[in-house]
This record gives sequence, structure tokens and C-alpha cells, in this order.
Amino acid sequence: MAGTLYLVASPIGNMGDLTARAGAVLAQVDLVAAEDTRRSGQLLQYLGIKKPLTSYFEHNKRKKGEVILNALLDGQNVALLCDAGTPGIADPGADIAREAIAAGIDVIPIPGACAMLTALMASGLTTERFVFEGFLPRKEKERKLRLEELQTEMRTMVFYEAPHRLKDTLKAMEQVFGQERKAVCARELTKKFEEFLRMDLAQLNAHFAQKDPKGEFVVVVAGAEKRKDEIEIDLHALLEVREQLEQEGLSRKEAAKAVAKLYGKSVKEIYGLGLEQDEWSEYPCD
Ligand code: SAM
Repeated sequence: MAGTLYLVASPIGNMGDLTARAGAVLAQVDLVAAEDTRRSGQLLQYLGIKKPLTSYFEHNKRKKGEVILNALLDGQNVALLCDAGTPGIADPGADIAREAIAAGIDVIPIPGACAMLTALMASGLTTERFVFEGFLPRKEKERKLRLEELQTEMRTMVFYEAPHRLKDTLKAMEQVFGQERKAVCARELTKKFEEFLRMDLAQLNAHFAQKDPKGEFVVVVAGAEKRKDEIEIDLHALLEVREQLEQEGLSRKEAAKAVAKLYGKSVKEIYGLGLEQDEWSEYPCD
């Protein structure tokens, strides 16, 4: 009989957040697969549990996924731990869960701490409807496009961000969502220096201009107040977006296509913004 894959949530800082059920499962399984074996080894040591430990992370997930699946098919029970928090949320846990389900293996969640919900619950922003966006693309151009897509998102948005990218991300958010959009930077959750900065985007940027971000962050951003079709589209602003994309390396046609798609305009209209008649000769007819 095949074993069971347990997806075990672990603390994101405060060891008191480890659940009794997580401890019991870790004590009972045959194998622990960990995104960070050093960190998970410390957790097992803290619990006084000795178990075979194997690594499973982004760069070995294909090869190690097979090893773990074979162990499960051989009847071993396996606990999956991510670096911290809930496996499958912005880490490779979702891949092994999907593969195990496809192979007919029982997958059991052991819930617990998760940075996204911990930040959201105390953000002070509406939690009635929200969307988890995880990490934004690292490249400036792609990040901007993703934010543009979210400009009229009305649900509260939750993002993860690395400290060394936080300032650039908050600046890009201010450019796209506007200075007055409410946002919260939740830092070092459940740890000694836990902090919630509840401000608008302009104030957050002013704050981080004075003080470099340190530690781990979740950024929660209020949803837009107006629906896409209620926002009057300023063609001058669209021209600026197109020009910026061109400066970042897109051809004029590619930039026009991207902007047109986002704002429900025709490619031809966006392509033609700010151009003299003779420049139109380049316009690639669709
Ligand atoms: N699976 C994890 C979870 O359940 O939250 C998230 C894994 S993701 C690779 C790591 C990101 O989560 C960090 O870059 C940070 O954005 C966020 N994070 C994790 N722990 C945190 C903490 N204690 N305080 C603030 N953010 C945290």
C-alpha cells in the first residue's frame, strides 16, 4: 500500500506557532523532505525527533520529486516541510502535491502559519475579498506590466517581496496604483521585531527612503476603488506607458500591443499616439 504525503506547515518565526498535530505527524512519518534541511533539522531537534531528512527545493525538485514519489509508492509516509510556513504557498510544495495526487497518493494538509494570511489578518485592510499575488516578476518591465494588470483590481492584494527589492517594488506600485493607495508593509511577522507599517504608498516610499528595509516582508495593498470601465483613460498617460516600454527594449508594435491589451484599446490607436503622419508608414497592419 502506498504511503501518505503530509504537507506540514511550520512556524514563520515564532516556534509557539508549531501545531501539536504538526509535531505528531513529524514524529510518526518515515521520511522528512525539506526545502531547507538545515532549518528543518533544527526544527526536528527542537522537537527531539530523529528522522531521515532529504532535500526538496526549487533546483532539485524534478529529480528529488521522483525519489520522494518512489518512497511514497513503496509505502513510506513522508512529511514535506518548506523553508518556513505553509508548503505550496510560493514554494515548490505545490509541485510534489500535484504529482502525488496524480499518482493516486493520499495528500493530507497539516495547516499552520502562513505569512500571507498572518499579514492580511492584521493589515487593517478589507479581508472580505483578497487575491494572493506572491512574488512579482524580478525584471522591471515585466513587473510593471503585472502591476498594470492589477491597477483596477478591486480586491485587497497580497504580495511577497525580498528586502533588497522592496524599495523598487514600492516605487513601481506608487507609479501604477497612485500615491494615495493604502498599503501595509508587514515585517518580520511573529518575530521579535515584528512591525506593521500602515500608510499610503507615497508615505511608505518616503519611509524607506530614510531607512533601508531589513528582514522579511509581506506587502498588502488596498484594492482599487473604481472599476476599469469607470476610470477615464488619459491618452497622454498611455503614451507615457508605451514610451517607457519602448525605452525598456520593446519594439513600438510590441509596446502598443501590451498597452492596448491592458486598457481595452486598439493597437492602432496606441501605436499612433504622439506620432507624426510620416511615422505612421511603419505601422504594421494586422
Ligand atoms: N510558504 C511560505 C508561507 O507560507 O508564507 C512562504 C514562502 S516564500 C518562499 C517566502 C516569503 O514569505 C518571504 O520572502 C516573505 O515575503 C514571506 N515571509 C515568510 N516569513 C515571513 C515573516 N516572518 N514575516 C514577513 N514575511 C515573511
